[in-house]
Amino acid sequence: MVLSRLKKVRLLFPLPAGEGKGEGETTLVNSQARRLRHYRKMNFEFATATRIIFGAGMLKQIGGLAREFGKHALVVTGRNPARVAALLKHLEANRIAATLFAVAGEPTIGLVEQGIATARAAGCDLVIAFGGGSAIDAGKAIAAMLTNEGELLDYLEVIGRGRALTKPSAPFIAIPTTAGAGAEVTRNAVLASPDHRFKVSLRSPLILPKVALVDPELTYELPPATTATTGLDALTQLIEPYTCCRTNPMVDALCVEGIRRAARSLRTAFADGQNREAREDMCVASLFGGLALANAGLGAVHGFAAPIGGMFPAPHGAVCAALLPHVMAANLRALRVRSPERDTLRRYDEIARLVTGNSPAYADDGVRWVSDLVRDLHIPKLREYGVRTEHVGELVEKAAKASSMKANPITLTADELAETLRVAI
Ligand SMILES: [Zn+2]
Repeated sequence: MVLSRLKKVRLLFPLPAGEGKGEGETTLVNSQARRLRHYRKMNFEFATATRIIFGAGMLKQIGGLAREFGKHALVVTGRNPARVAALLKHLEANRIAATLFAVAGEPTIGLVEQGIATARAAGCDLVIAFGGGSAIDAGKAIAAMLTNEGELLDYLEVIGRGRALTKPSAPFIAIPTTAGAGAEVTRNAVLASPDHRFKVSLRSPLILPKVALVDPELTYELPPATTATTGLDALTQLIEPYTCCRTNPMVDALCVEGIRRAARSLRTAFADGQNREAREDMCVASLFGGLALANAGLGAVHGFAAPIGGMFPAPHGAVCAALLPHVMAANLRALRVRSPERDTLRRYDEIARLVTGNSPAYADDGVRWVSDLVRDLHIPKLREYGVRTEHVGELVEKAAKASSMKANPITLTADELAETLRVAI
C-alpha cells in the first residue's frame, strides 16, 4: 500500500533524471519542490463571538449573562417554544423581561421583518436566540436591524442592494439546541426569499454574537432523524472549509479536530441520544464547523444547498448530507485531472484517515466512509423533497452563482455540477 502510494507521488511529480536517488529521497525532494512551486503568501483574519461558553448545564448562566446587556429580551425560539421554559425561568430570576418570537421553519425576509417590529413594539434592548440554525439566524438578523437604518433588503447580497451594515447589532446571545449549523459563531444569517426562490445571506462581522452559549444537554432530546441531518451538516461544514480554496492554519486545526469528533460520535448520537460524550463531541463539531466556515468558506455542497433550499421544502442538513459524498467524489475527479499537484488531494487523504481511523487510508476511502454513513443514517435522496432531473439545469445555473460555490477547491464545469446533482437525486 505504502509502496504504491510512493509510486503514485513519483508519477505525479516527475523529476529530471539523477535528482533523486532512493525512492524515499525522490519523494522528499518532490514534496519540497511542490511546496515551493505552490507557495502563496499566507493571509487571513479570524473573527468570532466575543465569548464562547461551552459545557453541559451551562444554560443556568444565562440570567447573569443577559443582565450585562439589557433588561428586556426578545427571545427568538424554534418550532416548539415550550422547550424554552428553563431559559425563561433563569431570565425571570434575574428580573429580565422576555417577549417570545417563534420561528417555525427556515427564516424568510418577511418573518425577520415581523421579528424586528415585535422587538421594537415591546422595547427590547437585547436579543436571545434559542433553537437550531434557523432561530439563531433569524435572531442575528433581527438584532442587526434593531440598530442599522433602512430595510433588510438594503443589506442583502445577490437579491438586495448589498450595502454594508455600519452599526454593531443590538446585544445578541445565541444558544443552539441542535448540533449542526454552528450558527452561534457565524457572521451571516441565511434568509429565504420566497419571491426569488433563493436563499441569501445578511453578512457582516458586526452581527457576531456577544455570547455563544453551547450547552450539550439541550441536544439530548433531539430525535434520531434531526441528529442525523444536523450532524451531517456539521461534518459537511468541517470538510468543505478544510478543502476549500480559502482555508488557513487556524481553520485547519479546528477542522481536523472537528472531523475526528464527528466521525467517532455521530453514529452513537444517532443510536443513543442520551450518550453524553457523543452529544458533547457533536456540539464541539458543530461549533468548530461554524468557526471554520465563517473564517474560510464552504464549497459546492453549500453552493447547491442555497437554491435547493430556496426552491424545495427540504431541511438544510438533509440536502447537504445527500450531496456530500457525490461532491467529494466530483472534486477528487476534477482535481486529479486538472490540478493533480494541488495540496487539496493530500487534504482529502487526511480526511480519509480522520474518518476511518486507519492509517494508511486515502481519499477514496474517505468518500466511501461518508457514503456509508449517509446510507446508515437513512438520509433520503433529494427526489424525496421534490427535486427532479428536469430541475437540474435551473439548479446548476443558480448554484454556480451562490457565494459558497466560489470557495470550492476547484471550479466544476456545468456538466460536472449537473452530473453530481443527478446522482444525488
Ligand atoms: Zn450547512
